[in-house]
Amino acid sequence: MKIHNPLEKFGLKNVVAAFSTRRNGNMSLSYGDTRDSLENRKKFLSSIGIDYLSLVCAKQVHGKNIEYITEEKKGSGALNYDSSISDTDGFISDKKNIPIAILTADCLSIFIYEPARPAIAILHAGWRGTEKNIAAEGVRVMRERFASKPDELLVGFGPSIRSCCFELDKDFKSNFPFGLVNREGRIFMDIALINREQLKAGGVKEENIFDPELCTFCGNKDFFSFRKEAGSAGRMISVIMLR
Ligand SMILES: [Zn+2]
Repeated sequence: MKIHNPLEKFGLKNVVAAFSTRRNGNMSLSYGDTRDSLENRKKFLSSIGIDYLSLVCAKQVHGKNIEYITEEKKGSGALNYDSSISDTDGFISDKKNIPIAILTADCLSIFIYEPARPAIAILHAGWRGTEKNIAAEGVRVMRERFASKPDELLVGFGPSIRSCCFELDKDFKSNFPFGLVNREGRIFMDIALINREQLKAGGVKEENIFDPELCTFCGNKDFFSFRKEAGSAGRMISVIMLR
């Protein structure tokens, strides 16, 4: 089975990074059909050398709080949603063998690797998180906690709904100076572009950002899409771990 690793092109040896697809099944313990979710996680994570019992998950709220994860939080949200870390949309860590994850269906996941310490981050950026600039916040907390240099950060994007399909309501009030596309009077958001620009404004180098350009909406046969499937949509997992 193909493993999608958005950091693959950087040839890193000491980090595992991957996102799942529809084929791997629903990874959420709270959304969609959750009956097989634990088994799906176990199968997918073991295929990339991760113990599913160590997984750290968030109660994502489309905010920009980012939590620093160490040993005592290992396994938070691994077996049930209630034990997930609340009010959080991103994790950073410099500890080995603690997989940190976010769950998405249309929202963008952002994987970050910092080679010097080394350290990692995973961020959840829907349009609300993007509006709050969670990407730059991720860079900021890595600088603060790990003294990371932004120009050394390596970044990969997961699949998300993209400008081909992410149509906004007519009355959408935009705080985005760029990244909105007007096609025949309809407004579409380029969420990957906006996050790329936010990362660059935070000091990340353009050539250090990899975007696989996968759309969850028109690629719905391969990915879960909330906009396409609404309440029945499962979630993909985006996970990263130092080893
Ligand atoms: Zn599309």
